Amino acid sequence: MFVKFWGVHGSLPCPGPKTLKYGGNTPCVEVRSDGTLLILDAGTGIVELGMDLLLRHRAASGGITKIVGHILLSHFHWDHVHGFAFFRPCYLRENEFHVYGVRNLEANVRTTLERQMAEPNFPIRLEHLAASLHFHDIEPGDSFPVGDLNVTVAKLSHPGDSYGYRIEGNGKVMIYATDTEHVDDEMDEALLKLAYKADLLVYDSMFAPEQYLGLWDKLPRRKWGHSTWEQGVALAQAAKVKRLALFHHGNEDSVIEELEKQAKERFPGAMAAYEGLEIQL
Ligand SMILES: [Zn+2]
Ligand SMILES: [Zn+2]
Repeated sequence: MFVKFWGVHGSLPCPGPKTLKYGGNTPCVEVRSDGTLLILDAGTGIVELGMDLLLRHRAASGGITKIVGHILLSHFHWDHVHGFAFFRPCYLRENEFHVYGVRNLEANVRTTLERQMAEPNFPIRLEHLAASLHFHDIEPGDSFPVGDLNVTVAKLSHPGDSYGYRIEGNGKVMIYATDTEHVDDEMDEALLKLAYKADLLVYDSMFAPEQYLGLWDKLPRRKWGHSTWEQGVALAQAAKVKRLALFHHGNEDSVIEELEKQAKERFPGAMAAYEGLEIQL
């Protein structure tokens, strides 16, 4: 299983000199296994991934060879979907994409994306995208095949809900758990079970532990739906995970460097994800 990070920043894109090292695009992670292409979230990182896919599939004739992909959305907050309408492969009729998400209070995955692209939000409607698009409503507890991978879904702790995924293939396991908060320092039992003995855990580490408590600026981040590297390490250790990727960053490079150092001291398998990071499991 091959994993590449295309967007690792949380909440909003943050381009500029202070995010050059880890990157300022919002969540998007590519997972590949043999012939299967899985894309986790459609934050702004998906835009660059789209351009890269078109290059990879460039045909000798000048056109492209068919791209088949599976886009798994953690939830519908802007930072996880606002790259979708700019994902160029969706505009070419040769291609086929399957989009998966858990229905929210208002609507299912298709309707939610339709609304995002409807006037006056965007000039091109979802139904006008030329690629063959298929939408799949999934539920926590579901476990289903995606090409030669298998995906299991668990509910996370986040305002409006978010969902974590266990992705298995060729004897390897990765967990995608972003936009989740540890509650009152208690371990999330569902997430602990989901992450058990994974080779890689991608975990919401948006805030520094002191920042989470409000010690930096008298603004506690409790109940904001995000977590810390400390909780990520605790989960990784309890779940016997091999490697931990801190993800959904909420700070600039100099702060993330420090958090990464602290996390590594406690758990050598920890690293801060950055745009372009590739991991072969
Ligand atoms: Zn987010
Ligand atoms: Zn969110």
